[in-house]
Amino acid sequence: MWQAEVRVDLDAIRDNVAMLRAGTSAEVLVAVKADGYGHGMVPAGRAAVAGGATWLGVATLDEALELRRAGVRARVLAWLIAPGLPLHEGVAAGVDLSAATVGLIDELVTAARRAGQPAVVHLKLDTGLARGGAVPAEWPALFEAAAKAHAGGDVEIVGMWSHFARADEPGHESIDRQLAVFTEGLALAEQYGLAPRYRHIANSAATLTRPDAHFDLVRVGIAAYGLSPIAGRTFGLRPAMTARARVTLTKRVPAGQGVSYGLTYHTDRETTLAVVPLGYGDGVPRHASSAGPVRIGDTRARIAGRVCMDQFVVDVGDAPVAAGDVATLFGPGDDGGPTADDWAEATGTINYEIVTRFGSSRVPRIYTGEAGRGSGQALPATGHDAGEIG
Ligand SMILES: *Cc1c(COP(=O)(O)O)cnc(C)c1O
Repeated sequence: MWQAEVRVDLDAIRDNVAMLRAGTSAEVLVAVKADGYGHGMVPAGRAAVAGGATWLGVATLDEALELRRAGVRARVLAWLIAPGLPLHEGVAAGVDLSAATVGLIDELVTAARRAGQPAVVHLKLDTGLARGGAVPAEWPALFEAAAKAHAGGDVEIVGMWSHFARADEPGHESIDRQLAVFTEGLALAEQYGLAPRYRHIANSAATLTRPDAHFDLVRVGIAAYGLSPIAGRTFGLRPAMTARARVTLTKRVPAGQGVSYGLTYHTDRETTLAVVPLGYGDGVPRHASSAGPVRIGDTRARIAGRVCMDQFVVDVGDAPVAAGDVATLFGPGDDGGPTADDWAEATGTINYEIVTRFGSSRVPRIYTGEAGRGSGQALPATGHDAGEIG
């Protein structure tokens, strides 16, 4: 018997990736950073590979090394690197690394010599997001250093890339502007003798709406998990995550009863309250207080009052809800239940955050489906991944 679980449909991840791959001639990288957007980095990565992804993308070096330790052999790119890290470990593990500064190129040369093999590098250009990447004024110095390191054999420049600011708003003028700046960067790099095999800029939104931005590789994250980056459009994707818990108890209370910390919610009639054992310690946003939708049996209701660390309360009226009944917070939504999109709307955030919050959760993550389980590779049973598998 289980009390609460996050169910991850690996076949949905595989099928979403296969669909995205069928829609492009570029290779597909699936972002599995932040514990696979809460879905489990290694299982999600394997399911993505089963769907045709040839690359996995992570933010940190540690995430990349964890993929390698788990035996993942797909190409891996790590793109958020502070100075002073043990980059030789990444080089030795065959991890592609992103660089946007001359200082990091220098570190990569040192790391390559220490590892005894070339560092495989993607140069990051800032084309307008103003986050990571080198701005155009920095390109000549970066390209010169990169070309020199490449010629010296310590560094192999295999990629040139950037990231969109507003691709989730199709038609926004910044998308064309960033593409133009990216093309200028590629042209300038060529003057320095840099013609990398992989040019990439498209995230999920651009992959779904801008085929002219696919270049040699698309980097999809949210769409692989079956959620849409663009409000109001689903693109035939299937959400992979379901979060649910069993009602611990129910009680009848009179009209006018204040509910949960602060007594911020008051019953408007005699009613049944159901206690659901998931809280902000598990990933439920406290902003979902008196807002988050829940389905229990055939009853769709909202959270009554504050979300606590471990639990929240639902006002189910006169519905025949009993202890042990399953309360679904969000899932694919095909049964009429709430979705991560509904939760995002109810809490003023994006679907990305709703699912990712469950990544470091104490809730057991249960994998369903077959994708990525082949080749005798067992799924990890560590930490919060422990529990029933399959
Ligand atoms: C997270 C991330 C992606 C994937 O973005 P989605 O919007 O989830 O598709 C792509 N590229 C980079 C650099 C990222 O950090």
